[in-house]
Amino acid sequence: AFPLAGKRVWVAGQRGMVGSALVRRLAGEGCTLIQDRRADLDLRRQADVAAFLAAERPQAVVLAAARVGGIHANATYPADFLYDNLMIEANVVHAAAAVGVEKLLFLGSSCIYPRAAPQPIREDALLTGPLEPTNEPYAIAKIAGIALCQAYRRQHGCDFITAMPTNLFGPGDSFHPENSHVPAALLRRIHAAKEAGAPTVTVWGTGRPRREFLYVDDLADACVFLMTRYSGAAPVNVGTGEDLPIADFAAALCRTVGYTGTLTYDTSRPDGTPRKVLDVSTLTGLGWRAQTSLEEGLRLYYRWFLDHIDRLR
Ligand code: GDP
Repeated sequence: AFPLAGKRVWVAGQRGMVGSALVRRLAGEGCTLIQDRRADLDLRRQADVAAFLAAERPQAVVLAAARVGGIHANATYPADFLYDNLMIEANVVHAAAAVGVEKLLFLGSSCIYPRAAPQPIREDALLTGPLEPTNEPYAIAKIAGIALCQAYRRQHGCDFITAMPTNLFGPGDSFHPENSHVPAALLRRIHAAKEAGAPTVTVWGTGRPRREFLYVDDLADACVFLMTRYSGAAPVNVGTGEDLPIADFAAALCRTVGYTGTLTYDTSRPDGTPRKVLDVSTLTGLGWRAQTSLEEGLRLYYRWFLDHIDRLR
């Protein structure tokens, strides 16, 4: 066990959706949270990161900083997704080892697994086949991050662990109309259609791909659980273990928003991988499971959206 109480903890990416959920969750753990300021610290710059960690000396780090985006952003900015994520990981993992960080949790993604992996996807499917092309640069960067943590564990004895979250949504999400992930894009569009009294909302693709969605506060809880109880080289999947077609997810969002129009499918937009649902038996075997139902998560998500509608990212 690795108790966080009394420890100096740094959440890299503390202003993002995942990082801010971690900050909320860690507030109850009795640790000292190290703040950073974006103006002083560009995680893509090795010297910045090394100097920051040498000055702040965290004992535990959660690496929740990443360049992220939905299926369209991944296709449009492959260089940014590969370069920024490789640099962030390499800099943080290396500097953490150099200053003797006792525990580091690296966050990957369910898109690291092969497109044709058997579903639900087990952790040992990693590197067994070709990736989904629509997010390959991001996936390759995240696979490199896992490999880095494993290599520092093996060569330097660092207790660096990795978790692979499924598709996430929640407070602090980015609602960019083109570049966001599907929950934010659809929530925003369905809300706008309701306000405008529009008869239909456009959903990208066929509506048939299946996805699993986890409320971000549940991910933060799983991260704290793993930080305190897990120590191993193998990645650990974090999800609900349940998926649904995008069409059903869109219908659930319509119910959340109270929108009664129809859905129209734009098949000129990509579907991406046909199915992505995680086998979460490693995590449930350790004693953790998600607490927030999809319906409740979407209700909280919409409430947060309405409360922040004039300052969305
Ligand atoms: P993915 O899970 O890595 O494929 O990433 P996304 O969250 O971007 O997309 C998930 C699925 O939602 C894909 O099948 C998309 O075609 C579908 N989708 C439907 N409408 C939208 C939308 O407005 N934005 C995005 N990003 N995806 C959408």
